[in-house]
Amino acid sequence: MTPPQPGLGAEPGPEVAPLRDIIADQSHLRDEGAGTRLIGSVCAACGTACFPRREVCLNCGSRDVAERLLGPNGSLYTFTTVHVSSSRAVPYTIGYVDLAEGVRLLASVLGEDLVPDMAVTLTTTDEGFAFVPRGQEKLA
Ligand SMILES: [Zn+2]
Repeated sequence: MTPPQPGLGAEPGPEVAPLRDIIADQSHLRDEGAGTRLIGSVCAACGTACFPRREVCLNCGSRDVAERLLGPNGSLYTFTTVHVSSSRAVPYTIGYVDLAEGVRLLASVLGEDLVPDMAVTLTTTDEGFAFVPRGQEKLA
């Protein structure tokens, strides 16, 4: 008898879990008194900033990379509201946020009346972190 083949009717094993669409835990955050910021990195060779922190530069391959705190302010590049998910309660909104340090990241977005290019700021949530339009921080 031939064992079941992946993708051919085999039952998923315990290692199968729903995909996460964003980084949603608080291990990438640090609060140093002036507010919560994201823990990223910057390359000493080319200056490229990354989030989350990398050991090797994604741009030039250098290992001369140091920790850099990023945010909390950014600009909402674009966003969408998700209505079907296997891993989170719906609906929820995610978007690409451009940080002043030149990093674009995908994150949860809270708030109302969202429009592209609006100013957003980092906030913490029960699930990790999100961005909220400046002036709507109390909604987080
Ligand atoms: Zn580099």
